[in-house]
Amino acid sequence: MKAFVLAEHTDAARGLCAAARTVADDVTLVAIGDVAVPESCADEVAKIALPEGNAVENAAETVCALADEEAPEVVFAEPTRRLKIVAGRLAAHLGASVITDVTALNDGVAESMYFGGLANRKMKAVGKAVYTMTCANYAEAPASGANAVKEVAWVEPANAVKVVSREPIVKSGIDLTKADVVVSAGRGFAEEEQLDIARALCDKLGAGLGCTRPLTEGVDWLPRETYIGVSGLTISPKVYIAAGVSGQMQHMVGCNTAGTIFAINTDKNAPIFKQCDYGIVGDLKTVLPAITEAL
Ligand SMILES: Cc1cc2nc3c(=O)[nH]c(=O)nc-3n(C[C@H](O)[C@H](O)[C@H](O)COP(=O)(O)OP(=O)(O)OC[C@H]3O[C@@H](n4cnc5c(N)ncnc54)[C@H](O)[C@@H]3O)c2cc1C
Repeated sequence: MKAFVLAEHTDAARGLCAAARTVADDVTLVAIGDVAVPESCADEVAKIALPEGNAVENAAETVCALADEEAPEVVFAEPTRRLKIVAGRLAAHLGASVITDVTALNDGVAESMYFGGLANRKMKAVGKAVYTMTCANYAEAPASGANAVKEVAWVEPANAVKVVSREPIVKSGIDLTKADVVVSAGRGFAEEEQLDIARALCDKLGAGLGCTRPLTEGVDWLPRETYIGVSGLTISPKVYIAAGVSGQMQHMVGCNTAGTIFAINTDKNAPIFKQCDYGIVGDLKTVLPAITEAL
């Protein structure tokens, strides 16, 4: 069986090639743009150079043309925003089944988390399959292959997306994707000034300060790159302390792989209490300073 792997990051490329190897005897890593290709991970590395001004999404036609040539029966795509677009268009082109956010594949059965990690769902693709897949479960799995390089000819897209400009975001504070401890603020913070009590706890713990989406897009109290969830960051710190966070699925998918989750909420029925390891029913204005004081 032939598998395609679409990945933007080196770790994901390696992990997804390892996942692909569990079902396919012929693995092609499709490397779009300047992806750093891991050593010995696939039989073939199909390199697609992005012409100046083209977004990664524009490579969809080129990937489809490559699929016409190589006829993959299964595709593993890293779930980045751009590759989800490419994978979606490839799935339509192949007439393939699509299963998203897969965490593991066993005997053709794809597992994915559901309801923000409250449930596991198992589904099976019929015929050709495109999976968007996280590679955490395959971090240690063996990837192998000669990495034979093939330069793929660019197919000009019918409706291109042009990159007009790129500007790095100036980030402040601790990188939440690398922090061991993250304190996360939700709408339980009634005023911007109250965030100082979360900052004080962060200082004590050497933690990063994250938040739910409403604290960025709603009121602009914290930078947008600090919100966690389905449309924000996905993080796996050792410790996640959620204060005044209700635990909606869109938020929890971004943090439910944290080692230990603590929740502080005034509402004993808040959904987060079903998803945390330790919960305190209480007002964050008294609980957070008490924890900071006790440390
Ligand atoms: C398409 C889509 C994508 C989304 N993507 C994201 C995303 O990526 N990330 C994200 O975070 N959200 C996202 N959302 C929004 C998400 O659905 C929730 O609305 C949001 O996560 C709720 O934020 P919250 O928990 O801070 O607020 P709320 O749900 O309002 O919860 C506030 C909590 O604070 C508690 N509280 C109140 N006062 C106190 C106090 N003094 N002390 C302690 N607790 C208190 C309350 O009991 C309540 O449980 C998305 C929504 C949509 C529709």
